[in-house]
Amino acid sequence: MHEFGIAEAIVDAVERRANGRRVRRARVRAGVLLRIAGPAMDHAFAMVSEGTVAEGAELDLVTEPVRVTCRTCGHSTTSDDAFAVCHECGGTDIDTEGGDRLVLESIQIAEASHVPGHPRRDRGDPAGPY
Ligand SMILES: [Zn+2]
Repeated sequence: MHEFGIAEAIVDAVERRANGRRVRRARVRAGVLLRIAGPAMDHAFAMVSEGTVAEGAELDLVTEPVRVTCRTCGHSTTSDDAFAVCHECGGTDIDTEGGDRLVLESIQIAEASHVPGHPRRDRGDPAGPY
């Protein structure tokens, strides 16, 4: 269940960017090598975000492919699957690039009326000078 660690990283990033505002939706790009299981991720995110600005927010998970290059035959491809054997020559000397990132792509802020003390300035991101 390493999804909990990932969920914590996501909630952290969301909190920093939300700057105290309530978050309705968070879009995250996650490399395929992280092997995130969707349902487990949703569950972990719901638990970790409890009591934070991200509580009840929807998590949009976008899987980012990995680039795989075979050192034996030079075959290169991107894949949504973290395979370890070259499809061309069957070699196992594989180079991977990317596919292990976790990036908070965007957040959607809930209606400003739910956030007392913060006037309507929810368009900009990162937040302007307070
Ligand atoms: Zn190969």
